[in-house]
Amino acid sequence: MTRLEAADPGWIARADVVIVGSGVAGLTAALHARRAGLTVLLVTKGRVEEGSTRWAQGGIAAALADDDTPEEHLHDTLVAGAGLCDVDAVAALVTEGPDCVRSLIGLGAHFDLDASGALALTREGGHHRDRIAHAGGDATGAEVSRALVAAVALDPGIELIEGALVLDLLRDDDGGAQGVTLHVMGQGQRDGVGAALAPAVVLATGGFGQVFAQTTNPAVATGDGVALALRAGAEVADLEFVQFHPTVLWLGPRAHGQQPLVSEAVRGEGAVLVDAVGERFMVGVHPMAELAPRDVVARSIMRRMSDTGAPHVWLDATGFGERKWEERFPTILASCRAHGIDPVTEFVPVSPASHYASGGVRTDLDGRASIPGLFACGEVACTGVHGANRLASNSLLEGLVFAARIGRVLSGETRAARPVAALSPAAPLVPREARRVMQQAMSDDASVLRSADSLARAADVLEGIAASPGGVPCTDDWETTNLHAVSRVLVHQARIREETRGSHWREDFPDRDDGHWRVRLVSRLTPEGDIVTERVPVQGGVIRATP
Ligand SMILES: Cc1cc2nc3c(=O)[nH]c(=O)nc-3n(C[C@H](O)[C@H](O)[C@H](O)COP(=O)(O)OP(=O)(O)OC[C@H]3O[C@@H](n4cnc5c(N)ncnc54)[C@H](O)[C@@H]3O)c2cc1C
Repeated sequence: MTRLEAADPGWIARADVVIVGSGVAGLTAALHARRAGLTVLLVTKGRVEEGSTRWAQGGIAAALADDDTPEEHLHDTLVAGAGLCDVDAVAALVTEGPDCVRSLIGLGAHFDLDASGALALTREGGHHRDRIAHAGGDATGAEVSRALVAAVALDPGIELIEGALVLDLLRDDDGGAQGVTLHVMGQGQRDGVGAALAPAVVLATGGFGQVFAQTTNPAVATGDGVALALRAGAEVADLEFVQFHPTVLWLGPRAHGQQPLVSEAVRGEGAVLVDAVGERFMVGVHPMAELAPRDVVARSIMRRMSDTGAPHVWLDATGFGERKWEERFPTILASCRAHGIDPVTEFVPVSPASHYASGGVRTDLDGRASIPGLFACGEVACTGVHGANRLASNSLLEGLVFAARIGRVLSGETRAARPVAALSPAAPLVPREARRVMQQAMSDDASVLRSADSLARAADVLEGIAASPGGVPCTDDWETTNLHAVSRVLVHQARIREETRGSHWREDFPDRDDGHWRVRLVSRLTPEGDIVTERVPVQGGVIRATP
């Protein structure tokens, strides 16, 4: 059976706007759509609190301190983005960010305070000011999620459907969005494949960390929003820029899926990296040693692992003492101990894992995708704020700022609800058995270190999988199909970009090449499933790091 046949709706729900996903972006978009007086259907494939948001540890970046300015935040973001940021998008992020954080506090989110009762702001890699607001020490995302979920629950104009896996976009005869198809597991009359109809659809489906074998992202991060957009013919951009977090707890050679993160704040507090023979290897690689940018640390770890043949390196934070661990990093301490490692007395085994997708569904400054009525915000979107590399703690902020912008558009722009004329073209389903093979190929050949040869190997595996589909309509196979679609375009763009920039490292083209590659790669699928990629020049915003 094809996906199209499986998607004939057995039930129908309607609203003014359908929002897909209940992380920081989806929940914020829902509250802003209500302020615009719209009825909201908020659908999410797991429970409401599932998603990357609740796992965020470090915090939210915003120029909230007296000695800080949005201009300085803009400068740091542009440096991290390595010449590919959209300067207007970054300007929106940094100037509207502080008020968005204050609104979140107004909604009831409790951030950590200093001794004087002011917001406690800390610093992370790449920031030249203390501008990271955090909650519960290292549990910021959980508090953000709690506060937003509570606010949404109080609003009778927002209907929440959990356990609802969104499949594809429904469109009118002009090609505009008119809703989505979705699969709901056993909720009374809404059971099986149905349709959520609305003339505005907001994708807030998060990232695609599960494309790789090891990731910090939760199981729901299977790139569904990007895959849906691709099947609908929408543009996606910057998929080759995936940030790998250097220090993820290594749980053994067969560990797969979501792995616990050991925040870079632990290195910020003085922990050091040592290799299999106990040698500290970041000194001499970069002036900031362990606090070098994430991509530099991740690459150095991969090289050291390959040189020594060890599957991981070690993080030594035994100098902290128990009290510091308990007060400053309670979540990380608990997660290490749950896996039998006591960081108070032992070195912690760590290795890089996929962490953040800088690219996604291409949008304008107000979250509009290239299809009328379709919007995207949060990690699923490519607003251009991250360029080739995300600055730490800018992603929760991006979700808040651009979800609010979509709310403003929705309050002023009404599209008519019109009959549905088209589903996205049917694609054969990839069976769940292919998932691990595909993820391993992506980790082996399209992750931190890439080359023409390695990317060709990854592309071969993906082609082989496409040649023998045979999946059936069920959650696992729908998600595996989405992972495959995202992987295909990611590898395609990584092969085209013959340079090293930000989080995209080509061993065979180790230099950044502004002469040829200050372009954004923008791809879409033809109805036949072929990838069409355009090079769109990026203007302004080249700022090199200053010490
Ligand atoms: C371990 C970790 C630590 C992090 N630390 C920080 C940090 O300190 N600061 C920071 O700024 N960022 C951090 N990030 C990144 C940040 O958490 C995410 O980028 C951000 O939370 C994404 O929010 P979102 O709303 O876009 O997506 P998510 O929070 O991932 O939510 C996506 C939602 O979409 C739903 N969904 C997905 N597919 C479908 C579908 N087909 N149908 C229906 N629903 C669907 C999911 O169930 C979920 O509800 C961290 C991420 C991780 C994983």
